[in-house]
Amino acid sequence: MCTVPHPAAREEALGFLSTNPGDPATYEMVAELEDEAVDLLGEIAGLDSPHGYLASGGTEANIQAVRAARNMASTTDPNIVAPESAHFSVTKAAEVLGIELRTIPVDDAFRADLDAAAAAVDADTVVVIGVAGTTEYGRIDPIGALTQIAHESGARMHVDASWGGFMLPFTDHEWSFTDAPIDSMAIDPHKFGQAPVPAGGFLAREQETLDALAVDTPYLETTSQATLTGTRSGAGVAGALAAMEALWPDGYRTSYREQMDNATYLAAEFAARGIETVDPVLPLVAASLAPSTFESLREQGWRISRTASGELRIVCMPHVSRESLNSFLADLDRIRS
Ligand code: PLP
Repeated sequence: MCTVPHPAAREEALGFLSTNPGDPATYEMVAELEDEAVDLLGEIAGLDSPHGYLASGGTEANIQAVRAARNMASTTDPNIVAPESAHFSVTKAAEVLGIELRTIPVDDAFRADLDAAAAAVDADTVVVIGVAGTTEYGRIDPIGALTQIAHESGARMHVDASWGGFMLPFTDHEWSFTDAPIDSMAIDPHKFGQAPVPAGGFLAREQETLDALAVDTPYLETTSQATLTGTRSGAGVAGALAAMEALWPDGYRTSYREQMDNATYLAAEFAARGIETVDPVLPLVAASLAPSTFESLREQGWRISRTASGELRIVCMPHVSRESLNSFLADLDRIRS
């Protein structure tokens, strides 16, 4: 789910290779750029006064969402609730924080099952996680209804829009801070945001979330740090801001539409060949393919992967062209003939 960075972002990142936004009193300029990047991320995610920072990626943002929820709750036996479609970083979060992960099933449309969510939450649930753009099928969980379930049980609501966040503003899906009273979000510039790696985004509605993450930093000239990592990439911060300034909103809209067209085209081509395909909702196509065909395509150099249940998974990231898809289809036809 990575892509070629925008040229302006690549160039800007090079100027900040030795800076560290983890020490904002020393690296003031990159700290200012980070504030601007968080404001822009907030605009994309529908939050007027965002609180947050540029993380190393969606994994860190998800861990931090769980950590903040755990720190803000009073229970001594916390649990979190997430759909089986959630990214494996949620498993890592539960493991490193020593919290029970309650995994709920998805429905026929690969979206979190609401009855199961309602049954899974209890007074010890600290956060419910919904995914806006799942890793395997590109689906968007029913964020509004999940938020209601979370808040009614006293839990927080976190949305993992790590991959979907730079496409969903151009759709009618419910996913953002304005669509539902969600508490936090993961939204990664280094995925569809076309920023250089590493650039994840952690956003929160309230400053209290960041306060719950902050630890004292005695040897620095600032008093506390809310991030999970200490030293961070200033190149990631500067690159992310440059990418977002260059592409939000028109460039992202164009990329989303182009890649949605590509995904729709690819799904139709698979269907025309009698290959069972999961309808793309975002630009991600999953299709049933014989394991030997998959292996042969990998050997040809195609960077394809598989879902947990073994389907071919193709993510149409911004660098994917119609030409490359046609070339892929030609190889597929040759291998299958
Ligand atoms: N969340 C989702 C939905 C993802 O698809 C991914 C990675 O693909 C992640 C989180 C983890 O992001 P990262 O690899 O940047 O830590």
